[in-house]
Amino acid sequence: MTLNDYLSSGFKFSEEEYLLQFKFKMLNTMLMVTAFFSILISLLAFVGLHDIGLKQAIIDFAYGVMMISFIFILRISKQHFKKIAYFLLSMTFLLFTYILVYLPTNEARTIWFFLLIVFAYIVTDSKGGLIYTTLSVGIIIVLHVVSDLHLSQISINASIIALLASSAMFWSHAKIITQYQTNLKQKNNSLSLLASTDYLTGIMNKRMFSELSKRYFKTAQRDGFKLTLFVLDLDHFKNINDTYGHQAGDKLLKYFVQTVENTLRASDIFARIGGEEFAILVSKMHKDDALIFAEKIRNTIEGLMIEYEGHYLSVTTSIGISQSHKTDNEFDDILFRADMALYKAKNEGRNRISCIRAKDSVLKYPKADEENTYLHFSI
Ligand code: GH3
Ligand code: MG
Ligand code: MG
Repeated sequence: MTLNDYLSSGFKFSEEEYLLQFKFKMLNTMLMVTAFFSILISLLAFVGLHDIGLKQAIIDFAYGVMMISFIFILRISKQHFKKIAYFLLSMTFLLFTYILVYLPTNEARTIWFFLLIVFAYIVTDSKGGLIYTTLSVGIIIVLHVVSDLHLSQISINASIIALLASSAMFWSHAKIITQYQTNLKQKNNSLSLLASTDYLTGIMNKRMFSELSKRYFKTAQRDGFKLTLFVLDLDHFKNINDTYGHQAGDKLLKYFVQTVENTLRASDIFARIGGEEFAILVSKMHKDDALIFAEKIRNTIEGLMIEYEGHYLSVTTSIGISQSHKTDNEFDDILFRADMALYKAKNEGRNRISCIRAKDSVLKYPKADEENTYLHFSI
């Protein structure tokens, strides 16, 4: 295990969690350093090499042990981060307050409160930073008023002004960082949406479909349910472009997508995998239902009519179907069969559905208004 792993509490962080990982490292460093020094100081005091008194030595030792236990608790879950950060801040605040009151020989002891404020802003957030600034300034003023801290008024004033000034700077910095992070996240989201969406129709593109289908395939094979893949290709689409122009073709493509979308459930995957080629991936569909579903789409598209500059355009679609089988090694095996089925549907005259079984036997299905022989097949 590397030092980096130790400081990250053994967790893996995604690219989006870059800042959180930095905070983990900072918190772990703080825990390790404070544990090391407080235990070292207490041990030196116990053997008489450092004169801080037994009481202070015991407090330092207990503090060190607590910091070590925080290191272990932090390793259990990422969720513990905020709690431990606040615990560390509270315990350290109490320790520094103790030092402020009981170690009057240390003239520079208010300096420790700066460390705490910087840490609070970096590791917690602007709210944590503000709380600790208020507490630090408050405790210095109160203790200065109610007891003798053996510090001159000028040194108290300088400490308070410096604490407030550095807090203000860190507060604005923390705000900017938060804003920057939010903007970056929004940009990342819209970029990944752009990278996974087809610009013309707004549905999933081929890149995203390849990624998702592989994941679905693994889950389906593991959990033992079937996937049904429909590959749709518009018939003689080139003629539409050649006759009415590319814009007419685009309009028809959009209408086609909207129409098919209306037949789908939210859990179905619908993607544009080529110019005028689409894929629908459905989980847990019975083979008979798959044929009825494909026929419904074919029939609906056949009846689709759009108006373009005074012309009425219509189109038909051929559909290749295949279902996953336990012998399939990868999603491409299903895609290959569905493509073969589509090729067959095209060869047999288009505007029809065709299915290819995993066992390589070829079955053809006529249009629904012909004989319903397609209902008898096995996959
Ligand atoms: P088939 O029945 O064999 O599928 O015939 P087809 O004409 O549909 O097939 P082909 O592959 O020869 O032509 C596909 C056409 O789809 C050619 C191309 O211009 C058109 N196309 C592909 N992408 C787009 C697009 O985004 N917009 C438009 N308008 N047309 C597109
Ligand atoms: Mg085509
Ligand atoms: Mg095509």
